[in-house]
Amino acid sequence: MKTALIHSDAYQRFDYGASHPLRMERLGLTYALMDAYGLLALPETRVIPPRPAPEAVLGTFHTAEYLEVLRAASAGQEVPVAYRYGLGPGDNPIWPGMYEASALACGGSIAAAELVAACEVGRAFAFAGGLHHAMPDRASGFCYLNDAVLAIQALRARGLRVCYVDIDAHHGDGVQDAFYASADVLTISTHERGDRLFPGTGFVEEIGEGAGRGYAVNLPLNPHTDDAVYLEAFDAVVPRIVAAFRPDVVVAQLGIDGHRTDPLTHLALSVEGFAEAVCRIRHFAPRLVALGGGGYDLANVARAWTVAWALMNDVELPERLPEPFVAAHAPALRGRTSLWDRPSPLPADVTRTAREYAQHQVAELERLVFPILGVR
Ligand SMILES: [Zn+2]
Repeated sequence: MKTALIHSDAYQRFDYGASHPLRMERLGLTYALMDAYGLLALPETRVIPPRPAPEAVLGTFHTAEYLEVLRAASAGQEVPVAYRYGLGPGDNPIWPGMYEASALACGGSIAAAELVAACEVGRAFAFAGGLHHAMPDRASGFCYLNDAVLAIQALRARGLRVCYVDIDAHHGDGVQDAFYASADVLTISTHERGDRLFPGTGFVEEIGEGAGRGYAVNLPLNPHTDDAVYLEAFDAVVPRIVAAFRPDVVVAQLGIDGHRTDPLTHLALSVEGFAEAVCRIRHFAPRLVALGGGGYDLANVARAWTVAWALMNDVELPERLPEPFVAAHAPALRGRTSLWDRPSPLPADVTRTAREYAQHQVAELERLVFPILGVR
């Protein structure tokens, strides 16, 4: 199958600030690991540099007022009302070039969507994207512009039926909200429960409204949910719903902040568990637009998205990270030299609590949305 990887070295020029958990170098590290494994020179693969999404395109989701404020703040102008748009010290700091970096990420995700829509490739991966919290009129959760919404809109403009599957540890609230009243876009998000983690939403009762009732699906999870518990719940819900909805394209947000060593969340996945989820997505997606997402332990980001890209190309990788890569990036890897994680079982009672919580959520979804979607 033909595939496309969207990447620009320009992303690395940008910086949220020294103390911010979102490190842009994670993108360069990921690209370097893909390169070290020979995944950029596969016969069926193209690496495509993105172009920034024009303001007119950004304006199909974001308000003109917000775009103006974002652009001015990004250019270093004093914008006293910036805080009203989610901008300022904290999650969404103001830094030079944030508008350009965000518009470039949007352009990348839209390019991935357009390549897939035109059937030029069957799978595309824009791993700088997946900024799923951005709202029409404000920044939220490290996200200034919502590339995922724009990519879905690009697919919808071609008349395609889209299923959005978000496996980030945080609820994909910006994307859910954008299509909450639509039956043409089904959104599914698996994440740590909203009463324990930002953004505080994504409960099982949020199922869409109006014509979109039943077309928003949320599978919240308890802290310490591990691979086995996650995959059981995933399998009970996600493939069955996708099969009932029969999308033309799946847009997947592949955040890896559910990893057990991620500093911002409390889920307990490994790279293996992440890879299993990506395998399932690859299997049920007729065509696939994959995006990045959260991930605040750099070595996990590089390993997980390299594995994801290998899976999209049906390539198996040797377990040991290539030696020159390890030598060049030792500080970021913090001792890790394997693509995979060592097993690290949790106490039985912790796993039992996580499993009971997940099973209850699955039962609620079976009651609330399965009948509407005609899930068998
Ligand atoms: Zn996240």
